[in-house]
Amino acid sequence: MVIEDVRAQPEVREVSAPFAPHGGVVVDVRATGLCRSDWHAWAGHDDAITWPHVPGHELAGVVSAVGAGVQRWRVGDRVTVPFVCGCGRCSWCADGDAQVCPDQEQPGFTHWGSFAEQVALHAADTNLVALPEGVDFATAASLGCRFATAYRALVARARLTKGEWVTVVGAGGVGLSAVMIARALGARVVAVDRNPAALAVAAELGAEHTVVAGGDVVGAGVRGGDAREAGADGTDVASTVMELTGGGAHVAVDAVGSEQTCATALLSLRRRGRHVQVGLLPPVDGHPRVPMARVIGWEIDVLGSHGMAAVDYPGMLALIESGALAPQRLVERVVGLEEAAALLPGFDTASVAGMTIIDPSR
Ligand SMILES: [Zn+2]
Ligand SMILES: [Zn+2]
Repeated sequence: MVIEDVRAQPEVREVSAPFAPHGGVVVDVRATGLCRSDWHAWAGHDDAITWPHVPGHELAGVVSAVGAGVQRWRVGDRVTVPFVCGCGRCSWCADGDAQVCPDQEQPGFTHWGSFAEQVALHAADTNLVALPEGVDFATAASLGCRFATAYRALVARARLTKGEWVTVVGAGGVGLSAVMIARALGARVVAVDRNPAALAVAAELGAEHTVVAGGDVVGAGVRGGDAREAGADGTDVASTVMELTGGGAHVAVDAVGSEQTCATALLSLRRRGRHVQVGLLPPVDGHPRVPMARVIGWEIDVLGSHGMAAVDYPGMLALIESGALAPQRLVERVVGLEEAAALLPGFDTASVAGMTIIDPSR
């Protein structure tokens, strides 16, 4: 799927096959997720992109060519890859923190991505993840940037524990993933969104309370909840969450990325709570104001979270194989490349509650 220039209609056509770079591989793509980051790429919000471009960064498939210098991988291996691929040479990569590598590559951004039959991937020994037998390609692609990011945000960054309350602001791909993961960890969830249909999915996944931003509070989940009014501004939603949780959540996740959602999440916390910023606050929207007086006065921890390194995938994949986590429940539809090309330009306003997976063989 080729995009000739910023905001051009994506086209599906033949291009020359990729080759395996030194230290890298070519993967035959079996499933690849379509997400809002692809729309940002199409819309010209990412300076890393040169045109024409092939997007796609959430993929799973089979290794079909192996470059010189690769030690761990063979043709035929079933693999996935984080959307942030480390260089494999720096100290961050050596310490298992490729998600913050200063020389990182991102398929579908820094080079051509996975909305194709084949994709080239760099530094394979650092970045590829073996898929267990029990995890299929669509499930692995659905980990994408969203599920893996939510997992790292809650497990490694917020260190969410059993019985704690977590506010999840935004019930899209990242937010719904966060709801599922928080429940699997034994935490209690309040989900916040403008879209009641998305909140209904959050409730199905175990959110104990759902709050319609700018609307009513809806009781949900096994314990039910009282219907209360929540105003349109973030402070009111936050005080509603304060009430529902008996003094504020222990952890808050902004899975959207706006000044408003960041403030809502942060102000919903109890004293000494932990805020995790996952949703991107793109520079096109200007520099966001963050309620730093609350951060200081209540000793709030503000944590950034950026993807997840390949070395941390096996723990998450084991939970998926055991059935404790089921990201495939978030897959809304599977489409071919042609349909995906038609969907991409409107993806910023798509009302789909779950994830869209592309099967390039369709
Ligand atoms: Zn590196
Ligand atoms: Zn993504």
